[in-house]
Amino acid sequence: MRFRAAVLRSYEDRFAVEDVLLNTGPAEGEVLVRIAGCGMCRTDLAVRRSAGRSPLPAVLGHEGAGVVVRTGGAGTGLTVGDHVVLSFDSCGHCHACLGAAPAYCDSFAALNLFGGRAENAARFTDATGGALAPRWFGQSSFAEYAMVPARNAVRVDPALPLELLGPLGCGFLTGAGAVLNSFRAGPGDTLAVFGAGAVGLAAVMAAAAAGAVTVAVDRHVGRLALAERFHAVPVHAASADLPARVRRLTGGGARYALDTTGDAELINDALRSLRPTGRLGLVARLGATLPLEPGTLDRGRSVSHICEGDAVPGLLIPRLTELWRAELFPFDQLIRTYPLADINEAEQDCDAGRVVKPVLIPDRPPPA
Ligand SMILES: [Zn+2]
Ligand SMILES: [Zn+2]
Repeated sequence: MRFRAAVLRSYEDRFAVEDVLLNTGPAEGEVLVRIAGCGMCRTDLAVRRSAGRSPLPAVLGHEGAGVVVRTGGAGTGLTVGDHVVLSFDSCGHCHACLGAAPAYCDSFAALNLFGGRAENAARFTDATGGALAPRWFGQSSFAEYAMVPARNAVRVDPALPLELLGPLGCGFLTGAGAVLNSFRAGPGDTLAVFGAGAVGLAAVMAAAAAGAVTVAVDRHVGRLALAERFHAVPVHAASADLPARVRRLTGGGARYALDTTGDAELINDALRSLRPTGRLGLVARLGATLPLEPGTLDRGRSVSHICEGDAVPGLLIPRLTELWRAELFPFDQLIRTYPLADINEAEQDCDAGRVVKPVLIPDRPPPA
């Protein structure tokens, strides 16, 4: 079948929306999804800085949501017409997957970042038959359609605004999952969020929903205003003696801190903002060795990386949609929609901080 997709051909190119070909129907255990909307995540844009590690040309996009239009075999658990949110891929049988921690799947990088499942090679080409990288994050959703493992598709209530739900599969899942799963924050807990982008603001919202008290740190006053709207105390990142300020606002130090920036200086500030036994979670990929200042890990303080909010997507995504329905997780207020054809403008707006979460909406394509 032929449909439109945004193809990235080199690390420097703009996206080109063009025809692509999917050369087989769904294999056993896969479903074909007509994409209603796909969020743009920092990890999509980081491909440009992957120094040759991410294969190109590729169709990126890993926050897709759409409607199942074909299923492969009876074992998918999905039927045609189901509304689904797509998330990250995982193998389903390694130690981490068996332990309900699919974000730490042994094959996470291979399946999501660096080439996908080998059996997908040559299934997906450009209009001239030129090879495209196998699906990105098990989906490649900057497109009118995506062929995905059913394991990667979470059914949601058809009454929900489907075109806006895709970021629940990665960015919003990451921030909210860190608070609700990794920290298990509850009423009266204190949280400091460093970096109030899509992931940080999802953490702020989830913390408010859980009854935790949150301080949000950022350099952009617009982002701080958003954090305040969602019940965090805003603190400018350039504030004098930032850690002392956060400790004061959290009654002696935050029990939890979440860094979404990957910035070494802010990570040290985050550690120094913690109370004894406090925990810092890192969600951004570190660009370099992280120097830790003396004393930052004293008195039981700890730091660990958190991938995809420690989420089992099939459990956390429905929980987040229920919180949205209860007006406790208003993630839609972070979204601006763009036609898929305007993907380059969406990327520029995202890079410049003019939008928190772009969501790309394909034209309604011809039936599959
Ligand atoms: Zn696995
Ligand atoms: Zn992502």
